[in-house]
Amino acid sequence: MRESDVIVIGSGFAGLIAAAAADKRGKKVTVLSKGVGTLTIGGGTIDLLGYGNDGRPLANPAAGLAAIEPAHPYKKIGSPAIYAAIKFFLAICESAGYPYLGRLEEMKWIPTAAGTLKPTCLVPKTMDTTCLKSAHTVYAAGFQGLKDYYPHLVAKNLSKLPGYDKNYEIVMVNPHFTDGRDVSALDVARWLDTGTGRKECIRQLVKKVKAGAVILMPPVLGTSPDYQVLEEMETALDCRLVETVAIPPSVTGFRLRSMMLNYLKTAGVRIIEQVSVARAIMEKGKCLGVVTQNIDRERTYYAKNFILANGGFYGGGLRAEPGQAIEPIFNLPVEAPAKQEEWGNRQLFSPEKQSFAKIGITVDNKMRPLAPNGSIAIENIFIAGRNLRGYDFCFEKSGNGVALASGYQAAMSV
Ligand SMILES: Cc1cc2nc3c(=O)[nH]c(=O)nc-3n(C[C@H](O)[C@H](O)[C@H](O)COP(=O)(O)OP(=O)(O)OC[C@H]3O[C@@H](n4cnc5c(N)ncnc54)[C@H](O)[C@@H]3O)c2cc1C
Repeated sequence: MRESDVIVIGSGFAGLIAAAAADKRGKKVTVLSKGVGTLTIGGGTIDLLGYGNDGRPLANPAAGLAAIEPAHPYKKIGSPAIYAAIKFFLAICESAGYPYLGRLEEMKWIPTAAGTLKPTCLVPKTMDTTCLKSAHTVYAAGFQGLKDYYPHLVAKNLSKLPGYDKNYEIVMVNPHFTDGRDVSALDVARWLDTGTGRKECIRQLVKKVKAGAVILMPPVLGTSPDYQVLEEMETALDCRLVETVAIPPSVTGFRLRSMMLNYLKTAGVRIIEQVSVARAIMEKGKCLGVVTQNIDRERTYYAKNFILANGGFYGGGLRAEPGQAIEPIFNLPVEAPAKQEEWGNRQLFSPEKQSFAKIGITVDNKMRPLAPNGSIAIENIFIAGRNLRGYDFCFEKSGNGVALASGYQAAMSV
């Protein structure tokens, strides 16, 4: 019987961070994961906290943390661990050659594909907007055939925002995709991964852009977690390039996921993908092992501690059933409004948080799951990420921030 110190269930951002932090503490870690999680649809930015409870933008994430509600995961985790988690993540990025920029005391407002601005905290260098401040001419670049990315819309809407009244020009690049299907940002990024793609893109752009300008791009600057495409194109065009946030698939999310997986593999963490954890083997209130189901057979994995980072309703960590929400592996208590019709506001874009988004597992400050009477439900299980109770990531812009801080805190507790 091969036993790990820690089994992490799930390889979304919370699970990847938890595995890295537990490994850093010298633990023998195994990751069991069914799928890739929401990083690849959600974007590679780390939103810490963008909006307060009243829906107003915060001056910076640190200011928001100071006024956070008692039930919020950040309140349980506490500021020192949040700072430590950010430091840990930035160090991983730095060591991987894919540094991220940002800090808790600064809100970054980054352009989206709709030409709006979105608040976030940590971003890859490709999304650094510092150069836009002093830019006179901004080229909004598009790619022929790229679905749901309209540079005209980006330029038109951005130009109405304070600080963004620039001279906008639209430039189009034709990647000459000929197979007739919808083109996604991932297709363009894969094209730019190739030397011929980059050369052709530069050849088309260099005729249309003036040196010294800024080019706003969809997020397509290569799939690898490095800045090779960015640097090569900036040098060749003598311009600064800035990626916007766009719709899935998220190329920046793929880069972040690849960076974390590369980091874990290099560290020697055992990662078993495409396995679904179905149930737990329990003895005297402790979990001894978990059973995975695959197409051909079941397998049991044993560990001293388990970090449950398998997402919310979308990821598979929580399940909605008639009249209740359940956690399907350990049957942990999930707090949800008693009446199911109260799970959602009638207004989808309500000025208040959505109840269903706040449904999840209640934890103590070590991320251990709590029973309704406040006792620890299972002592060697720790919870991280989207399955936690008490926050609406979409309303407040905190998704990857909670995943980062709770994954780190869970790893510190095992
Ligand atoms: C469309 C969209 C856009 C978003 N944009 C942003 C953004 O720009 N910035 C930001 O900060 N946040 C964003 N978020 C939120 C953010 O992506 C999530 O809050 C965060 O990444 C959640 O991470 P997680 O690891 O907790 O869960 P998930 O990413 O859902 O990962 C869960 C993992 O568990 C695995 N799993 C599930 N069940 C099992 C099982 N039984 N056995 C084994 N493995 C299992 C899944 O396959 C997956 O690997 C966005 C979310 C969405 C949906």
